[in-house]
Amino acid sequence: MSTESDATHGELDERAAKVADRVVAWRHHLHRHPELSNREVNTARLVADELRALGLDEVRTGIAGHGVVGVLRGAGASPGGRVVALRADMDALPVRDLCGTEFAAEVVDSDYPGGPFPVSHACGHDCHTAMVLGAAVVLTGVRDRLPGTVLFVFQPAEEGPPVTEEGGARAMVEAGAFADPVPTMAFGLHVTPHPKGHVGYRIGNQYAASTLVRVVVTGKQTHGSTPWEGVDPMPAVGAVLTGVGQLYRQVSAFAPVTVSIGHVEDVGRFNIIGQTVTLWGTVRCAVESDMAEVQRRLTTLVEHSATAYGAAASVEYLQSVPPVHNSRPWVESALPTFRRVVGEDRLVETGGTLGYDDISEFVRRFGGLYVTLGVQDAALDPSGRPVPVPGGRGIVTNHNPHFYADDDTLVTGVRLHAHVAYDHLTGALTAPPPEESEAEQ
Ligand SMILES: [Zn+2]
Ligand SMILES: [Zn+2]
Repeated sequence: MSTESDATHGELDERAAKVADRVVAWRHHLHRHPELSNREVNTARLVADELRALGLDEVRTGIAGHGVVGVLRGAGASPGGRVVALRADMDALPVRDLCGTEFAAEVVDSDYPGGPFPVSHACGHDCHTAMVLGAAVVLTGVRDRLPGTVLFVFQPAEEGPPVTEEGGARAMVEAGAFADPVPTMAFGLHVTPHPKGHVGYRIGNQYAASTLVRVVVTGKQTHGSTPWEGVDPMPAVGAVLTGVGQLYRQVSAFAPVTVSIGHVEDVGRFNIIGQTVTLWGTVRCAVESDMAEVQRRLTTLVEHSATAYGAAASVEYLQSVPPVHNSRPWVESALPTFRRVVGEDRLVETGGTLGYDDISEFVRRFGGLYVTLGVQDAALDPSGRPVPVPGGRGIVTNHNPHFYADDDTLVTGVRLHAHVAYDHLTGALTAPPPEESEAEQ
């Protein structure tokens, strides 16, 4: 058995090397044609066409919007057997593309709610989609030796759909995408500004619990020269923006929390006191159980600030996403696979972050784990922090207009997906699903 596994591992690598150029080509194409959350029409079409061309057992499309699931039943698949779900997210961001490559996007979405927006793959989902397509090619090549089923999951709206729409990972689950067969493991990764080819893992919460917050402060419109005849919502908004900074002091400093208001929308003019001001923000908690408390205190802050200035306010929490939690048994079971793929010196334990990824909806339901893959010109300093390599392109975080990812590293991502999938199906990489009560940070 182990000899057969060894031979197959070698073949996975050979097949990954052969598909590497196509993966880069897919990535460049997707990068040049980015689509915002819930608008992944052409991306999904490309994915579905490629999966069909591979002769998968099934290619399901139109799931929760533009989601696609390819089903590959291995020769050894049986009812009730192992099923691994490899997840790629497909959506781009309303961010200008300043990555500086010849395949940089020049797309503007004029119709998107709140837009027009420049659109780019500033989070690297073009890489994820191309890598999982590459893994589909590789694993299809060894389907006669797969003792289970692989689901290639292409998810829309990871970055969050417009607030008036549903979408994302949970919507895929609710649409029944995983009802038959039910995964016994979910796996995904995110490209990150770490050294090229480094796999970062964390036991516990890799990413935070997240929720979008919308605050509407309502006053009474009046002319700027007669403020006493109306109610100015601005002072209440100012108090909220300042008061948010005090929320940190009301929860334990040992579990990080952030509340950021990234967008303020008013309807006034320089000489008109507008009726409403809307604040858009995000709440992140490293420990999920803090979320309810932070929301309660933020709501109190908003309502009482509004009252203090004679205004009214409403607070809504939308698009809540649970933390990405990697349980110890899953990580420990996966380490030999990661070691084989990238080598011991490129396998690093990392800290958690207050980013989010709604792959958590899959990992918490089906078990599995999530890692990061370094794709930038970086090295680790003695304390383990990424620092720029001299002469390189620097360290640029996800969502920055200058974010970039190294093409040559994509094949490592293909190999990771393929090895994880194969090892799970053979039973070498597995663990019980994480307990809901397991509240490690
Ligand atoms: Zn992102
Ligand atoms: Zn992302």
